[in-house]
Amino acid sequence: MEDKTLTCKECGAEFIFTVRDQEFYNQNNFSEPLRCKPCRDARKQNRNANRDRFDFNRNN
Ligand SMILES: [Zn+2]
Repeated sequence: MEDKTLTCKECGAEFIFTVRDQEFYNQNNFSEPLRCKPCRDARKQNRNANRDRFDFNRNN
């Protein structure tokens, strides 16, 4: 295996899908990442923010 250069679907930036990451993804049966790390982190934060808001609403 070797590092792969992938293009982010979100912002179009190229990013490296390292051998280490590929092994991790293979072990977990994940498909190749579509987004670069900054975009993934941003989406994760959005998800958390949405969940927090949801919990807040439910508790009220
Ligand atoms: Zn991106």
